[in-house]
Amino acid sequence: MLGQVPGKGVVGRKMAARILIVDDVATNRIVLKVRLASVCHDTVMAGDGRSALLLVQSCAPDLVLLDLNLPDMDGCAVLRSLRADPATRDLPVIVHTASTSASARFAAFEAGADDVLTKPVDDHLLLARIRSLLRRREPTDAATPPEFTLQETGTPFDWPGLIALTGFAPRRGQSLRADLAPLMPHQIALWDREMALAADAPTPSALPDALLIDATGSDGAEDRTTPALRLLTELRATPALRHAGLALLAATPSAAAMAYDLGVDEAIVLGSPAPEIAHRLHGLIGRGRAAASRRSALRDNIRLALTDPLTGLFNRRYALRRMGEMAVDAALRGAGLAVMIVDIDRFKAVNDRHGHATGDAVLVEVSARLRAHLGDGDLLARIGGEEFLIALSRRSAPEAQALAHRLCAAISDRPVTLPLQAPGQGEVSVSISIGVAMARPGTLPDEAMESADRALLAAKTQGRNRVIMGTSAA
Ligand code: GH3
Ligand code: MG
Ligand code: MG
Repeated sequence: MLGQVPGKGVVGRKMAARILIVDDVATNRIVLKVRLASVCHDTVMAGDGRSALLLVQSCAPDLVLLDLNLPDMDGCAVLRSLRADPATRDLPVIVHTASTSASARFAAFEAGADDVLTKPVDDHLLLARIRSLLRRREPTDAATPPEFTLQETGTPFDWPGLIALTGFAPRRGQSLRADLAPLMPHQIALWDREMALAADAPTPSALPDALLIDATGSDGAEDRTTPALRLLTELRATPALRHAGLALLAATPSAAAMAYDLGVDEAIVLGSPAPEIAHRLHGLIGRGRAAASRRSALRDNIRLALTDPLTGLFNRRYALRRMGEMAVDAALRGAGLAVMIVDIDRFKAVNDRHGHATGDAVLVEVSARLRAHLGDGDLLARIGGEEFLIALSRRSAPEAQALAHRLCAAISDRPVTLPLQAPGQGEVSVSISIGVAMARPGTLPDEAMESADRALLAAKTQGRNRVIMGTSAA
């Protein structure tokens, strides 16, 4: 029966992925199923386009092997339908077709195929391509929770990219560049092996978005697979090219298969027409840009999760965790950790007299002055409305006390100048009180925080604008 879903397999045997095989010829399906099962892939099968689309919904395959010639609908229509649905927009699809016509292949790429392999499909290439497409899905799935990737930033082609044709004999490189240039918005440079290996970060604008490595030799016939694959592995390890897309022009299907297993993103078999090469390089750049925007969205979200938007300081949640790590570090050195709690004096009155916006401006300025007196290894966080936590690495109790006095002076010595106020009207004088305590080596910093809190309360009752050392200090 078509469309039957096998179970998750024999216990203890790892199924690498679930692959949907779509082909109108039963023998083709069986041959592929056996081949995929031999490398532990779980398979689901469909003989026409409609059952294929239904199975994609019900079985959630990891990858689809799609024939173009189906009894009920064109394979390209199946592809377009998958690409139109957000749930399957990125589902890897390899088209396998008996057609060798360049226009049929190109139509499949345009409809959204990740690759188009000609029947009879080379086994090694097929399996390597499947591995490569399955790997491509992993990093974003694992590293980026969905709620962190919601924000889409612009279209990926707001500005042209740079493609480096790498290791081509000059005349072939020039001729390929002339063929590709009118088909893409991107700049195309000719790089030799040494230029690619010397690629370095100081001028990131000159770094290519993608490189196409020649593995076919000067007249396209000579097989330069081995040196090209070596170059590929070297480029994969070049830090400045970490995020560049890597493509390779392969002399044979087996060279393409090896290239995929060495981490190439696109292995283009010799003889592919220029529009197909251009389409694949363009797609590679698009995916690279989408990945870059996901990385930056993730960085932004991490920063937002750890910091306070008003002052840019770390927030309470991050500060408590970081202080725990600092206490462990200090304990390993046999040292203690100095902890301060800082509170702005009579801050409610600032708000009452000058308004909340002025209060905010004071918070920002006080934060900046505190930061300016601390080192890179010190922690400063806003842990409450007008309350800050400071943890100092490598400071003794007397050093911490002296620093606390300097912090008090830094706030009370000159008033805060308010932005956008008439001259003479825009100044507010504030002061801070500080409780200081030392966490003993090997103890959690909580005890020191409580002690610093009690010391802060004492500083308030004794008149404010002062530093009090906690009593449980070691
Ligand atoms: P004390 O010297 O005893 O610390 O007096 P205080 O007025 O500073 O202390 P209190 O805890 O009574 O008041 C703190 C005020 O801080 C109350 C609250 O409105 C204000 N506040 C808290 N967060 C913010 C903020 O983000 N912006 C502004 N403008 N004010 C804030
Ligand atoms: Mg206060
Ligand atoms: Mg307070």
